[in-house]
Amino acid sequence: MSAPITPDLVTVPRKLETEVKPNLIGLSRNALKTAFADIGTPEKQLKMRVNQVWGWMYQKGATQFDTMTNLSKDFRASLAEHFQIIRPEIVTRQISDDGTRKYLLRIAGGHEVEAVYIPEANRGTLCISSQIGCTLTCPFCHTGTQKLVRNLSAGEIVSQILIARDDLGEWGKPAGDKRLISNIVLMGMGEPLYNTDNVRDAMLIAMDNEGISLSRRRITLSTSGVVPEIIRAGTEIGCMLAISFHATTDAVRDKLVPINRKHNIAELLQACRDYPRLSNSERITFEYVMLKGVNDSDADARRLVKLIAGIPAKINLIPFNPWPGSPYERSDWERIEAFADIVNDAGYASPIRTPRGEDIMAACGQLKSATERQRKSAKKIAQETGM
Ligand code: SAH
Ligand code: SF4
Repeated sequence: MSAPITPDLVTVPRKLETEVKPNLIGLSRNALKTAFADIGTPEKQLKMRVNQVWGWMYQKGATQFDTMTNLSKDFRASLAEHFQIIRPEIVTRQISDDGTRKYLLRIAGGHEVEAVYIPEANRGTLCISSQIGCTLTCPFCHTGTQKLVRNLSAGEIVSQILIARDDLGEWGKPAGDKRLISNIVLMGMGEPLYNTDNVRDAMLIAMDNEGISLSRRRITLSTSGVVPEIIRAGTEIGCMLAISFHATTDAVRDKLVPINRKHNIAELLQACRDYPRLSNSERITFEYVMLKGVNDSDADARRLVKLIAGIPAKINLIPFNPWPGSPYERSDWERIEAFADIVNDAGYASPIRTPRGEDIMAACGQLKSATERQRKSAKKIAQETGM
């Protein structure tokens, strides 16, 4: 039994003048309605007010209430009194020789997280993070050597898109190919399906037609294989699915993707077969990191196509990206091509992912360095924030 609390030890929380105002970014339309009702907005105006503010925040990228000129002065003042619109702070922005941009962002509590923008000839992809660090420990992944610090909130996830749009000057452009950020991949730090609710809420904001307006088919969520959550990605987000497959036997996958010990290959592939709307136009991407002498033999390629038989799929071969102290080597180019040929001959597209932003450690699996620095002061941050 715990000791009784003596009255003089109890501190009553007091609302301080300096207390942070709630941030509107990341709230759903319903949550915004409640927030606006709480500050006295008449019931019959709520829907319109939410639409107006939503448009300013997510179509125009506004961060100041006084720029929202179609709102009455009084309402603007009331909004400014109670709320704020803030993004995480950009700590650094690095631009690679190939045009890739890596943003290091500081979020509440002093934690740091990375997002990467990858321009290509016919599209631009923003790779966003869902957690700081990762609970999983895939030994070839730099993020995996970093303990989980915490999940990102929906606001922190969607803010990565807002910040990249600010930086690229992309507010107000119509949806589609012409946009610099035409696609989103949840392939940054962390396991998105260990933070499914916040990832879903953030993606619902990104897909909203009166806001950022990204089609669900332009959003790809990559999972290491959190089987019980996979269906939810399909039903609640409706996004495209990528699986970090990486091995063709349970013995090897147990080592490379340790979540396999909990949900093995057979279970994972069943979840893929059950994925909603699976079809030739909505295929699953199987990601396969090419590790020299570990998972890159002809026999592996043949086992791979046998395992996924019947699943509309494409195989994305990822040449291993090394990081300081990494225990693997990248497969030779001829080996990667031979592997790709076998997969291709079996009828699956097998693009080889060109490493992007390697000079700034922005390529797949390299995101970490900033967060390690942060981890060293995790204790201090915990003391400061009470988290
Ligand atoms: N946690 C999720 C999302 C991260 S996606 C997942 O694992 O799917 C990042 C992709 O890059 C994953 O397929 C991951 O396995 C892969 N990856 C990780 N480290 C890598 C490295 N060093 N080189 C190449 N790909 C890597
Ligand atoms: Fe986590 Fe994905 Fe890296 Fe594995 S590959 S450690 S699941 S981020």
